[in-house]
Amino acid sequence: MSPTIAIIGRPNVGKSSLFNRLVGRRIAIVDDTPGVTRDRKEAEARIAGRNVRLLDTAGLEEATPETIAGRMRASSEAAVRESDLVLFVIDARSGLTPADRAFADWLRRQPVPVVLVANKTEGRLGGYAAMEAYELGLGDPIAVSAEHGDGMGELHDAVREYLPDEDEEKSRDRADRPLRLAIIGRPNAGKSTLLNRLLGEERMITGPEPGLTRDSVAVEWTDATGGKVRLVDTAGLRKKARIEQALEKMSAAASIAALKECEVAILVVDALLGMEEQELRLARLAEREGRAVVIALNKWDAVEDREATRRRLEDTLMTSLTQLRGIPVVPLSAQTGRGADRLMPAVREAYALWNRRIGTGELNRWFETMLARHPTPLVEGRRIKLRYATMPKARPPTIVVFGTRAETLPEDYRRYLVNGFREAFGMSGVPIRLQLRGTS
Ligand code: GDP
Ligand code: GDP
Repeated sequence: MSPTIAIIGRPNVGKSSLFNRLVGRRIAIVDDTPGVTRDRKEAEARIAGRNVRLLDTAGLEEATPETIAGRMRASSEAAVRESDLVLFVIDARSGLTPADRAFADWLRRQPVPVVLVANKTEGRLGGYAAMEAYELGLGDPIAVSAEHGDGMGELHDAVREYLPDEDEEKSRDRADRPLRLAIIGRPNAGKSTLLNRLLGEERMITGPEPGLTRDSVAVEWTDATGGKVRLVDTAGLRKKARIEQALEKMSAAASIAALKECEVAILVVDALLGMEEQELRLARLAEREGRAVVIALNKWDAVEDREATRRRLEDTLMTSLTQLRGIPVVPLSAQTGRGADRLMPAVREAYALWNRRIGTGELNRWFETMLARHPTPLVEGRRIKLRYATMPKARPPTIVVFGTRAETLPEDYRRYLVNGFREAFGMSGVPIRLQLRGTS
């Protein structure tokens, strides 16, 4: 399903012209439903390199000025409801009208992100004319000329921010695409042994000497859950440096590279050593790169006091890795294979959460309970008014919260929202991004 973008605004601002410009020369009208939506046009378009479904809500030309606000609302409500993004068009030449303002007021209260488009800005004074649009409180206006094609690059860039990323679309299109997995961890944690275990054959050499040189080619296999997996190679797995110090450095650099490539990272922790600074650093790196993480608590066979080991790990995670709260931990022995069968299901689950999209309706029901439970704080004596939330992206889950001076929201309230989101939607161990957009 392509994301849906609605073009709305009062008559004659240039909605149809913009629609045609975005769709291109060959306008493919795929929907021309008679009745209420008689004049609504719908077409597939490429915007910012993505396929989108574009809606044009023209057809209000007959409305009298008195009824315009109401009429527009009726016709636009349906479009807004089914859209992931709205392009709100104004005519920068004629200036803002009461109808524009009424429309903007209404739009600000709708649970959908809005890109403000100031049309008809070709010519010398065009950019200047767009300035007035700031008054609408819908963020920066994008100055364009639908007729001349000016400003389209900027418009595409503005829209791109709200579209799900390409990887996400690809993975939806191709369910059989392999999951990109990184296995990270300090030298000797048991990464190679674990990989061999996952592969079910001795494809790599393992040994106790950290100086051993190993080579491997790209590995792809079908895991026990039946899904394809591709290992994003870590130099730490592929090749070991001669000097131990260099190895430490190199494996960090290799881990960073692997983390950029992967979707899920297995952090292999030597249970005999526990989660030390090095492991925490890797976990934080994974979080910063926005990856889902699963901890393989390895060498479980050699642990004497399992209860104490587990407790110690949990303490460390609680105090030092709050940004990945609820991170799954799978105790196992890569060597004996015990517990290893639980690893890939945990990876698949983390992957699913990482990919999960929450609909705007469901998200805002949660958001309202959060606001009701804890009113937003006062900043400099004024209350921050948060209006609604959207989730434009997954991989990692990204929530955008809109509201008056939202960008000034204090850190503890941001954390409250992120943790609440994690809890409500079961996003354990997944990085969560929160963006705040002031709508003034
Ligand atoms: P709609 O009613 O919002 O769909 O607006 P239209 O696309 O039908 O355009 C209304 C009028 O504005 C038409 O006469 C267009 O030619 C004109 N128009 C549209 N875009 C531009 C533009 O970028 N610059 C100028 N100068 N006129 C434009
Ligand atoms: P890497 O450097 O992270 O790839 O670690 P290796 O896979 O080479 O393992 C390092 C050492 O730990 C080897 O001597 C392995 O035999 C040992 N090892 C790996 N997994 C386990 C395990 O589950 N239990 C025990 N007791 N030893 C393990």
